[in-house]
Amino acid sequence: MSAPDRHSVFRFAPSPNGLLHLGHALSALLNRQMAQSCGGRVLLRIEDIDQTRCRPELEQAIYDDLRWIGFEWEEPVRRQTEHIASYEAALRKLADRGLIYPAFMTRGEVKARVAAAEARGQVWPRDPDGAPHYPADDRARSTSERADLMKRHPRFAYRLDMARALNEISAPLVWQETGDGQTGTIPANPSQWGDVILSRSDAPSSYHLSVVVDDAVQGATHVVRGLDLYYATSVHRLLQELLGLPQPVYHHHRLVLGEDGRKLSKSEQATGLASLRQAGFSPADIRRLVGLVEPGLVQV
Ligand code: GLU
Repeated sequence: MSAPDRHSVFRFAPSPNGLLHLGHALSALLNRQMAQSCGGRVLLRIEDIDQTRCRPELEQAIYDDLRWIGFEWEEPVRRQTEHIASYEAALRKLADRGLIYPAFMTRGEVKARVAAAEARGQVWPRDPDGAPHYPADDRARSTSERADLMKRHPRFAYRLDMARALNEISAPLVWQETGDGQTGTIPANPSQWGDVILSRSDAPSSYHLSVVVDDAVQGATHVVRGLDLYYATSVHRLLQELLGLPQPVYHHHRLVLGEDGRKLSKSEQATGLASLRQAGFSPADIRRLVGLVEPGLVQV
């Protein structure tokens, strides 16, 4: 595994669907600290692909909060909504190899199907986030059936045919990890996610697809992000292999937890960076709150 050096590229990639909190501060500042210690670069990406949840005023708040805590980034910022063609091209590559299929079931229909199966005592597989795998119906359809359904249901999604995709991978799928959990060579297990969603009618690319395209386009050599995305890395590694994209080194850092011991959420006011700033906290206080100040080190 190559150690970070002055050619290393780090990136922080927040979504403007809520205000930044202490967890984001840890991620951003850790990216900056790791880049600074090796003389590498730091890029910023605004993950605004899901326009149903993202808002422009929240993007502005991200810039304000990041400047305030002392996170510095190179311009230009990559905004996903300005690069939709690159995600479509990646999706087309997978489509050309028969690795994706149109999926027509609504969230409610999936929920009802799973509930009915579980009521019969069937164990329905769930992904690491607890969401049920997508039922097999749409994967098994014929070409003409698909074409017909696509005409009748213009609001469909594209999903990865996980079994077919895995068939294309010959070498063991792994990633290199240097973070706060298990480190070293980590075996990837993308099948635990089922047929992941890659695009929706109201969002031209999913998080999984855009993150691998963006990390490659931005030349990210090191992905430093929270441990909540540790398991998602399996999907990212699979998509990188299928699309012929380079693999960065991953560093999944500890999460900042709330007083109740749970992961912070964007709707919680108390740990939001803007409210802490208004309450009189300083950027040095933020570093201390996220545990980035070494004991005995005086911050000026
Ligand atoms: N946009 C994601 C988030 O805000 C982070 C994605 C990543 O770092 O890969 O949680």
